[in-house]
Amino acid sequence: MEYIIPHYFDRFRCVAAECEDTCCAGWAIMIDEESLEKYKNMEGSLGNRIRNSIDWENGSFCQYEKRCAFLNEDNLCDLHMEAGEHMLCKTCKDYPRHMEEYEGLREGSLSLSCIEAAKIILGCKEKVQFHHFEDEVEDEEYEDFDFLLFTKLMDARDKIIEVLQRREIDIMMRMSLCLDLAQRMQDALDKEELFQIDEMLEQFGSMDEILAFQKKADGNLIGENEYCQTVRKMFRIWGQLEVLKEDWPDDIKRAEKCLFGEGQSGFEKNHKAFHKTYGLKSGHNEEWSIWLEQLMVYFVFTYFCGAVYDDSILGKMQMAVVATFLIQELTIAKWIENGGSMDFNQFVDIAHRVSRELEHSDVNLVRFEKICKKTLIFQSQQLLRVVLY
Ligand code: SF4
Repeated sequence: MEYIIPHYFDRFRCVAAECEDTCCAGWAIMIDEESLEKYKNMEGSLGNRIRNSIDWENGSFCQYEKRCAFLNEDNLCDLHMEAGEHMLCKTCKDYPRHMEEYEGLREGSLSLSCIEAAKIILGCKEKVQFHHFEDEVEDEEYEDFDFLLFTKLMDARDKIIEVLQRREIDIMMRMSLCLDLAQRMQDALDKEELFQIDEMLEQFGSMDEILAFQKKADGNLIGENEYCQTVRKMFRIWGQLEVLKEDWPDDIKRAEKCLFGEGQSGFEKNHKAFHKTYGLKSGHNEEWSIWLEQLMVYFVFTYFCGAVYDDSILGKMQMAVVATFLIQELTIAKWIENGGSMDFNQFVDIAHRVSRELEHSDVNLVRFEKICKKTLIFQSQQLLRVVLY
């Protein structure tokens, strides 16, 4: 079996009781078959407790007030404390390490939803590199695995990450180029002309292509009003997703009030002020651009090649761009709320909360991508104009 992991993968250490958050609340922790079997046969009082604390129909731990039944008042896991790490189910043992599975390949990542992992991912100043290695585990055969498409996706993802890491180019331009490529790849796939992708990748990121793209984009810029409307629509996505953490809807409402409460002129004034003091037009430009780059690299690495299972190349890129944008806008809202100040820890907090609401729920991941695909304003040409605003 071949494996690919980001270079920071092994840096993660769980801080357990010191954690300012907990990963054992707000989502159903699914239990793997092997652990369910183990729990079924466990003896003693802990065995009884565990059998009464499992939702056997769903194969997950029961929750009380959205907290795992084993999470105690000190935010520690009773199962871990009483029985040891070996009795944890796979989800709890692995988290926040996440594996995407393909035929002959497993890709590991750290989930942005864990605040300590988020600090590593977003605190990475260097360009992320990916390590490849193999072990003796036999490859599993997948029925109907489209190797040709997968190879194109892997080649494209390498190029996309390369372009996302070209720091001499404005980050919004890098995001736009990737979105544009995803649109063209989707068109080629829909027309069953996959062979065209090789040519696209050869050109992708060349100076000629970037200049031509810039020229086209300059003639099609978005107005301030349209930008504000699009961001509003992005926020409406949350209303269509399941809520994982109870305080999330209130956080969103507060952020919306900060961003849109003073009407469009207030929205514009605040955006300009943010970018001049903290964002892309400020002395923090380099830092801010790297954070956005790391978000995009994270989403692209984790999800882009998953298009092999649903043919949704553009959907994966739209999701990466919209999620990154939402994190940016929530950060601006926090900056307004703070009276014009912001730091790395607050950015990390926002990113990990967005990730938790989005990535801890398969329903939300699918719905989010569907909304991005079907909402006119998030279609690639429209979204491009928003990104380049
Ligand atoms: S959120 Fe991360 S650091 Fe915190 S307890 Fe869970 S795994 Fe550990």
